Amino acid sequence: MKKKYRINPVFSEMIPAALSACEGILFDSCSSCPHCGGRLAGYDTKTKHFADVIDGSGIKTIKVRIKRFRCSECGVIVYADQPFYPNTRAGSPVVDLCVVLSANMPYARAATSLQQFGVNVDRWSVRNYTRKIPVSLPLKELYGILLPESIISLAAQTFNNGMGNSIGASEVLSACGFPSSQKSGAALKKSSDTKDIDYTRFFPSLCCD
Ligand SMILES: [Zn+2]
Repeated sequence: MKKKYRINPVFSEMIPAALSACEGILFDSCSSCPHCGGRLAGYDTKTKHFADVIDGSGIKTIKVRIKRFRCSECGVIVYADQPFYPNTRAGSPVVDLCVVLSANMPYARAATSLQQFGVNVDRWSVRNYTRKIPVSLPLKELYGILLPESIISLAAQTFNNGMGNSIGASEVLSACGFPSSQKSGAALKKSSDTKDIDYTRFFPSLCCD
């Protein structure tokens, strides 16, 4: 029998809309070589998988484009500032959601809750991301549920621009707390909200039997 989840329907519209607004965005800013500080020259552009959103009838894949540069001094190839954690196959707001939901429920149930939010991530990816990323992410409460600040900021940006419109690369980066935090997972502990939060007080409201 399928379990029913009590989730405010606003989330299942807001979250896919925010992720969809990132479709096709080109991330192309990078000031200097992170290794040697050398001058960068354009190299190529990669397409990256950002999210799979559940859109009415089916799953829609959201992709973004990341420009790469070659350092004129040391020759390394570097990516532009991008809203991705290292070695993950989804945008950082999606990973943040996985991490926050898994803090208090099994990976399979977190994956089911994500589907209720309109985001498709399989349970193995949820587990994989959760193990890579530290749990102390900046959080915000919305309608009694704690969510990653990244997804709420992104949704607010999308809402401000008008639903259905895209948003700019720099807006996405700042909503997601980048580029300052992209260099390493450790840098994720951002200034404001690092106090320990007991997720269990909030997430029971997400699930019921
Ligand atoms: Zn260099």
